[in-house]
Amino acid sequence: DTSVSPCTPTLRVRPLTCTETRRGDQQVVHSLGDGAVHVSAARHDATFGFSAVFDAGASQEAVFEGSGMRQLVELAMDGFSCTVFAFGQTGSGKTYTLMGPLGQGDTQPASPALLGLMQRSFTCLLEQSQSRASDLALSASYLEIYNEQVRDLLSPGPPCALPLRWSKSRGFYVENQLSVEFESLEAIVSLLLQVPPPAGSQRRRTSAHALNRHSSRSHALLTVHIRSRAASACPSKQGTLCFVDLAGSERVKETGSSGELSVEANSINRSLLALGHCISLLAKPRGKRTHIPYRDSKLTRLLARSLGGSGITLMVACISPSSRCLSETLSTLHYASRARRVTTRP
Ligand code: ADP
Ligand code: MG
Repeated sequence: DTSVSPCTPTLRVRPLTCTETRRGDQQVVHSLGDGAVHVSAARHDATFGFSAVFDAGASQEAVFEGSGMRQLVELAMDGFSCTVFAFGQTGSGKTYTLMGPLGQGDTQPASPALLGLMQRSFTCLLEQSQSRASDLALSASYLEIYNEQVRDLLSPGPPCALPLRWSKSRGFYVENQLSVEFESLEAIVSLLLQVPPPAGSQRRRTSAHALNRHSSRSHALLTVHIRSRAASACPSKQGTLCFVDLAGSERVKETGSSGELSVEANSINRSLLALGHCISLLAKPRGKRTHIPYRDSKLTRLLARSLGGSGITLMVACISPSSRCLSETLSTLHYASRARRVTTRP
């Protein structure tokens, strides 16, 4: 089977925020339809192509249905390793896209219409699990990469770094990682929001809002393991669905004309830079591909399987339409254009 499944980049442009509107920011990003988006400002005028573009008016449901997320969930149920990652500067809408609006207080559940890709995927999985003849066993693990340390967000007590190992049979894996079975949407969502606080902050269970604020400095990876408890004869399948809320990309710097990412000394961004590097190498034609340096960061090791050929990746690039975010927006668009050329053979 040579069918090629690209690492599909999808673009989401959030609406201008009240603050941006109040101070009179110009809207510099315009969707042209057919996956094209146009950026026009004083000295910039460029058009970028995506598999899908969702502009300010797009609902959470439209993003779920139009991005290919539903198909990704179905592939994960069929035993594939699937990953969706949200990329963009802090405040561009990554967490909103994945989880919906956070920070209205812990007790107030978000309106169903505003639920993000994660909750919609969980619902889809749980529905399928109930309707399919073969039962699905669902469990989740939740990690963050902070300062190049992998931490288990499900483990109680102060966060501690877990070793990331490699074995021939499993590939890269995190040792002693906790995983929790779930059978309802409430269970998995409370798992997501009730994580222990990150290091440095107070030792209480954190609010969703604090989690989101922290997320600009760490990568959060929620992995759902899907095991089909198949009826006797058919082999049991094991798929994964991983949601990655990447750290804010605003510290990523590009060097001049080569377009290659340069490595900043800052360890917080190391994995983001390594991811960009792996993506740009994977974007080369198959025959011309050199060694892919997954080992350069914890993030790329953890994502190696989905990025590197046996998995399916959906990338959601998030941008603000504001003129004030122009340079970050252009850098996100360039980063995403590289991902467009990545092909895999799941
Ligand atoms: P990030 O996770 O990229 O830092 P957030 O998801 O926290 O950004 O979004 C920043 C702010 O913009 C939040 O207040 C969020 O509710 C709002 N926002 C983001 N995307 C949208 C959208 N599509 N529609 C309405 N509000 C949005
Ligand atoms: Mg966020």
